[in-house]
Amino acid sequence: MLTVKGVEVSLDGAPILRGIDLTVAAGEWVTVIGPNGAGKSTLLKAIGGTLPYTGAVLINGIRSEDLPRRKRAQLVATVAQQPVVPGGMRVFDYVLLGRTPYIPLLGRESAEDAATAERVLSQLALSRFASRALETLSGGERQRVFLARALAQQAPLLLLDEPTSALDIGHQQEVLELVDELRQTHALTVLATMHDLSIAGEYANRLVLLADGATVISGKPEIVLTEELLHRHYRAHVRVIRGDFGPVIVPIRKP
Ligand code: ADP
Ligand code: MG
Repeated sequence: MLTVKGVEVSLDGAPILRGIDLTVAAGEWVTVIGPNGAGKSTLLKAIGGTLPYTGAVLINGIRSEDLPRRKRAQLVATVAQQPVVPGGMRVFDYVLLGRTPYIPLLGRESAEDAATAERVLSQLALSRFASRALETLSGGERQRVFLARALAQQAPLLLLDEPTSALDIGHQQEVLELVDELRQTHALTVLATMHDLSIAGEYANRLVLLADGATVISGKPEIVLTEELLHRHYRAHVRVIRGDFGPVIVPIRKP
């Protein structure tokens, strides 16, 4: 579904990504972890086509920049870490924006587009906010609306940049379970970034640890989430508890 080859990004003359290689198979969930400033958001922006890069990003084997905008939007949906919130827009209309790649030029959204927006709002328990102005929602409510817009886009590849950072533990679980359910029923492919390492390991088939713009290690959560690697790259003192539900990361006080 997604192949990233030797992707490099420089911003203001400083190298931010130094040759990233990554493949995500159809139906797979890969989560990129790494300390603040590692380049996780930059990588998702490059893949999503909102940041210039060198190297190659292939979506279904086609170079991303060769895909017409509309076609690319039908294939890739993104939830940015800090989406721009348009002023005065109703939640429903914002989610409907996700249908833009399917609306004919000079055309209007169809009843089916509206039904899709309604369904996604309901799946994320957001129906009661449909008529509210987006900027009046709480941070967590708004974050679920951002995801709703991306899901309404019905693209097979989802790029999620810290999609649950503002959510309480219950909503976090609901949202991630929904994405995983859609992954299984609709063969969605997910590339996410996440700070909660236990949760990251619980949902991803594979983790990629990024540090200083380069991949340190990529593989099953069990091999990436080790006390040694987390200490080296996050300067964190943690215990990794291994249970039947996968590694759990517990921060401990410095000795
Ligand atoms: P992460 O998402 O892993 O926390 P980012 O991808 O947002 O990290 O940022 C990676 C690095 O790039 C950071 O050090 C950040 O300060 C830097 N950076 C981001 N945008 C710019 C920019 N426009 N100009 C210069 N540096 C930038
Ligand atoms: Mg980020």
